[in-house]
Amino acid sequence: MRSALSQQLFNEASRYIPGGVNSPVRAWRAVGGCPRFIQRGKGATVVDADGNTYIDYVGSWGPMILGHAHGKVLRALHEAMRSGTSFGAPTAGEIQLAKRVVEALPAVERVRLVSSGTEAAMTALRLARAYTGRTKILKFAGCYHGHSDALLVRAGSGALTLGVPDSPGVPVAVAGQTLVATYNDLGDVRACFSAAGREIAAVIVEPVVGNMGVVRPEKGFLEGLRELTTAYGAVLIFDEVMTGFRLAYGGVQTQLGLRPDLTCLGKVIGGGLPLAAVGGRREIMELLAPQGPVYQAGTLSGNPLAVAAGLATLDELSQPGVYERLEALGAQLERGLAAALAGARVPGVVSRAGSMWTVFFGVDAVRSARDAERCDRAQFARFFYGMLERGIYLPPSQFEAAFISLAHSEAEVDATVRAAEAVLAGAA
Ligand code: PLP
Repeated sequence: MRSALSQQLFNEASRYIPGGVNSPVRAWRAVGGCPRFIQRGKGATVVDADGNTYIDYVGSWGPMILGHAHGKVLRALHEAMRSGTSFGAPTAGEIQLAKRVVEALPAVERVRLVSSGTEAAMTALRLARAYTGRTKILKFAGCYHGHSDALLVRAGSGALTLGVPDSPGVPVAVAGQTLVATYNDLGDVRACFSAAGREIAAVIVEPVVGNMGVVRPEKGFLEGLRELTTAYGAVLIFDEVMTGFRLAYGGVQTQLGLRPDLTCLGKVIGGGLPLAAVGGRREIMELLAPQGPVYQAGTLSGNPLAVAAGLATLDELSQPGVYERLEALGAQLERGLAAALAGARVPGVVSRAGSMWTVFFGVDAVRSARDAERCDRAQFARFFYGMLERGIYLPPSQFEAAFISLAHSEAEVDATVRAAEAVLAGAA
C-alpha cells in the first residue's frame, strides 16, 4: 500500500506543527508509523493523499454519524454560507438548535452553545462549583472530558494512549482539587464521598465510556451516582459529548431514564463542524452570564454554519428506524469480529454499545481503566496495520472507540469482518 505522499506531508507538517498534527492521537504514536493524510471522504469511505480508499471507522472521532459529505448537510451549509459565515450576534438558527436539544433531553431545560467538548465540560465544572460553593470534582480514571486543567487528571483518550495522565503545565493546586475514582466501582465513589462528601461540587462521568475504548456502565452504577450526588448535594454531570445523539437521540440518559443535573454535548450535534453544548437544570444554567454571575463566552459560539450542519444532522437522526439500523450494523460487526477472534484463538473481546465499538486484545472483559491498561497493545498495533492494509481505517489506538455511521452498508461491515478474519488468522 502506497504511503509516500502521506509521509512527505507528515514530514513537512512536522516542520511547522508540533508533532505534525493538531490533536495528538492523529499522529499514530500508539501504533507507530506515519499517519495517513486524508484528502476526501464520501459516505463510509475516506481517500488518503496516496489515493488509497478505506472504509472509515474513525468518523472524525464521532461526529460523522451520517457519513462523510452527506448531501443534506452540504446543502444546509451552502445555504447558510450564502448569508455570511459569522456575525457575533444572535441568529434564529441557534434557537432552533437549542429547542431541539431541550426537546430531546428531559433533563435539559436550558442550553448554551459552545465550540468544543472541552469548553462544554469546563463550563459545566464552573457552573457546578458556583452552584454548590464547593471546589472538589470527582472524575473516573480513563474518562476524558477535554483538556481543561481540572480534567486532565488520569484522563483517557490521547492522554491514556501516551501514558501522560497528568500533563506538565497543569498546576498541582488545580489537579489537587480533582478526585479520581474507578469506573464501575460504586464502593470507591462512596469512599470518596465519605472522606470529602461536603467538599465535592460535582461528579463528571462518561455514561458509556469511549475514551479508554468502549466500556459500558454496569447495572446500577449510574443510578448509584445519581443517588450519591443527590444525597451529598453534589451536581451530577453526564458528559455525553460522544454518546449524545449517537447511542440514542436523547443520549444514554434518555435510554436509561436518568436525569443528570448538567449534560455536555458535542460531536454529533455539530454535524462535523465545531459545535458543542452544555445544558441542564434551569436553576443551575441560569447562573450563566449575562443572566447570572458565572462568566462564559465565545466569539464563534453558535456559529451559523455549525448550527446549520447540526440541525441538518439532527433532522436525519429524528427519522424513524435510524438507531435501530445503527444497532443492527453494530450487532453484525460484533458477531463477526467475536467469531473471528474465537476462530483464530486470539485472546480478546469485542466491546460495543450501539454504533461505538472496540476490540480489546489480551483480556476477556474491560470494566475500568485498570482492565484497559492490561490490554495487549502490541497485538492491537498489528491488528490495526493488518486492517489498514486491507482497506479498513480504524482509530490508531487501543484506547479509542471506533464508530459506525448510517452510511455504512451491510456489505461494508461484512468486508470488515472478512478483513479481520484474514488478519487474525495470521496473528495467533
Ligand atoms: N468529552 C468527551 C466524552 C469526549 O469524547 C471528548 C473528545 O473526544 C471531549 C469531551 C472533548 O471534546 P473536544 O475534542 O471537542 O474538545
